[in-house]
Amino acid sequence: MEYLATLDHEEVLIRRGRRSGLFTIVAVHSTVRGPALGGCRVWSYDDARAAMRDALRLSRAMTFKSSVAGLPLGGGKGVVMLPPDRTVAPARRRAALQDFGDNVAALDGRYITAEDVGTSARDMTVIAGVTAHVTGLSRRRGGSGDPSPWTALGVEAAIGVSVEEALGSASLKGRSVAVIGLGHVGARVARACAKAGASLVVADIDPAKQALAADLGARWTTPEKALLADVDVVAPCALGGVLDHDSAPRLRCAVVAGAANNQLADDAVADLLHARGILWAPDFVANAGGIINIAVELEPGGYDPRRARVRVRGIADTLRRVYADARAIDATPLTAANELARRNLVVADG
Ligand code: NAD
Repeated sequence: MEYLATLDHEEVLIRRGRRSGLFTIVAVHSTVRGPALGGCRVWSYDDARAAMRDALRLSRAMTFKSSVAGLPLGGGKGVVMLPPDRTVAPARRRAALQDFGDNVAALDGRYITAEDVGTSARDMTVIAGVTAHVTGLSRRRGGSGDPSPWTALGVEAAIGVSVEEALGSASLKGRSVAVIGLGHVGARVARACAKAGASLVVADIDPAKQALAADLGARWTTPEKALLADVDVVAPCALGGVLDHDSAPRLRCAVVAGAANNQLADDAVADLLHARGILWAPDFVANAGGIINIAVELEPGGYDPRRARVRVRGIADTLRRVYADARAIDATPLTAANELARRNLVVADG
């Protein structure tokens, strides 16, 4: 089975839930730097192979994301497999979350769960009824709450450092930025860039977001045109895979830095961007604000938003280091970020 070919995980637990009858998976890629933290994805897949592939791939990515950020965390991921047609009654969905909680509990702290695609802070409360190894509860319940503002704060830092690296000054005054996707993160990033003095081009597939464009004095366009706009910075804040062998040769920006996960269709696109002199902020460095904020929950003394702010702003230092390493070894920022993550894993392993 192709998805098991590069299996380098510590453990994977897959069980049919005794309450819901639905399959739930927890993949622990690494606990070398600390407990494996990663979101719980509630999704419907074509088959169990696809669900397993997601759990294995995403847990591995979490190891690298936390490691490059210097967090005392490993990488893990949870999946609740909905039926293929996605229809599940609320009571069965709740039962599935409790079943997932049983899996988390069985791992005895080696995996800690959090929100992800298809789950909310309210779902975390359901899981917390079964196991203590849950983060991302609402602020009211002592958790770190909505991660989006923190992800946005980290992306803002990443844009500043990238503009400094590519154009000589971190200031956005008089610069132009294209923000693709005005959701929880992108809307905040767009607002911050406008406040910092940038002129904006924005796009979203949801026409309702056009009101925000008007509010910010931004030019509204299609996602395709925003990606290829003649601007200083493109900030992908919607879906992954936007940078591919078709779009990369046609980009007209100096910097790409945004929140979207898995922006590159494949790793070779990083080389393509590098060869064209376009600076790409590795997505797993730029969008780590959410997980950095969650990690503050696990620090002695518990969650504190002031500490979270300082830690999330540290993304600027991490990215500066990635760019300096990339320059030193004449490699892409992707290679330099992966190397940094690997070094941090080796150090932790002693
Ligand atoms: P969201 O669902 O709130 O917003 C996504 C926005 O993108 C929506 O407004 C949607 O209409 C728009 N969109 C969808 N497809 C589009 C397309 N093809 N072209 C243009 N716009 C499109 O999501 P979010 O929480 O803001 O996250 C945005 C991205 O950042 C995602 O890739 C997510 O995985 C990543 N991310 C988010 C966080 C977080 O804390 N929320 C953390 C890390 C990474």
